[in-house]
Amino acid sequence: MQGGVAVIGGGTAGLILAKDLALNGIDVDVYEAHGEIGYGAEKASGILSIEGLSQLGINYKEAVVNTLYGATIYGQREKMLIKAKRKMAYILDRKKLAMICAKEAEGAGARINLNAKIGKERLEQLRSEKIIVGADGPVSNVASFFSFPKMDSYILTYKAEFSGASIPDKECVELFFSNISKKFFGWTAPYSDSVLEVGIGEWMKTRRNSYSVFSEFLKNKTITEEVGNASKRSGLASLIPFNVRKRTVKGNVILVGDSAGQVKSTTGGGIIFGGLCAKMAADVITQHIRFGRPLSDYEKLWRRKYGMDLGLHKILHSYYSRIGGRGMDLMIKFSKVFGIDSFLGEYGDMDRPSVVIKRLFIK
Ligand SMILES: Cc1cc2nc3c(=O)[nH]c(=O)nc-3n(C[C@H](O)[C@H](O)[C@H](O)COP(=O)(O)OP(=O)(O)OC[C@H]3O[C@@H](n4cnc5c(N)ncnc54)[C@H](O)[C@@H]3O)c2cc1C
Repeated sequence: MQGGVAVIGGGTAGLILAKDLALNGIDVDVYEAHGEIGYGAEKASGILSIEGLSQLGINYKEAVVNTLYGATIYGQREKMLIKAKRKMAYILDRKKLAMICAKEAEGAGARINLNAKIGKERLEQLRSEKIIVGADGPVSNVASFFSFPKMDSYILTYKAEFSGASIPDKECVELFFSNISKKFFGWTAPYSDSVLEVGIGEWMKTRRNSYSVFSEFLKNKTITEEVGNASKRSGLASLIPFNVRKRTVKGNVILVGDSAGQVKSTTGGGIIFGGLCAKMAADVITQHIRFGRPLSDYEKLWRRKYGMDLGLHKILHSYYSRIGGRGMDLMIKFSKVFGIDSFLGEYGDMDRPSVVIKRLFIK
């Protein structure tokens, strides 16, 4: 039986897992390719539900940039505000969040090795010495080296920050479902009264460059009103995995986070599910090392607990992808007539559609 754990990738999923393992007294090394934790973290957004965050056990408060109460959803012509009376989510500074996770992991006893890009030779060596955790993001080297089923679909993203923006409601994000972006949407996320993040996602298979889709999105009337006179501070492209990987445990190798595709297809949010699955992986690995529990239990456990919600996100995603801007207009009209906007404001859950469905039936 292997004596320790090698976590490949020092993103949030790998660091949350390393912290829990170290707290359980397990010998754990994190290998991060870059020379700093959180390198490139600003390529992604940091919108996280408060409910989900509370389950991750991270002391994230210092990373909070803004508090959100809801979202405005735009179709082609119609729009709908879903706003709660309670705080729903935070926008977090992604780099700070990663650094907090690293500090907590190190504080618990995990070793973090920077400038440690793990390639084929090192993986070959590690496979006989340790339990290997692939937490190396959407294009996982670990997954391809150990021949896990391929993840063949991605959303290409582009986002930028604008200062001096005119922000209609600092407490809400905006989601734009139009015909501009295929199989995803455009969004805005307010950091303050005057700093706004604007982004888009575009299905990889359309072969359109995410920057050109973003440029098209900037011509949207509402976006022009909000950032037409603002100055662009940065612009970054990235990638979101679109599918859950069909298998996430093979022998002594486990995948967590984006490398496992533990991402909500509706929004691309992966920190909560990736982090929760990482915590489950830490428990199973600990029990494997102590009592010989099969590592394959991780696969069963996370799919049982979160598989249905990730599947529902997939269904919702394929629904909104198909209906386009006009269909979204109809949806919005229908939702307003039946009071779905106020229901979601009161009983919505950003992460778990199964919980919303349950609440809907109860109501
Ligand atoms: C535009 C955009 C917006 C997003 N918005 C949100 C949001 O609002 N909320 C949300 O929850 N999620 C969001 N996400 C998704 C979120 O960023 C990911 O789900 C999350 O970062 C996944 O964490 P991870 O630790 O699995 O992988 P990553 O964050 O990708 O970390 C992987 C780490 O592994 C390292 N690595 C890679 N290869 C190697 C190697 N060979 N050796 C050593 N190290 C290696 C990398 O350097 C990196 O540090 C967004 C993503 C994008 C692109």
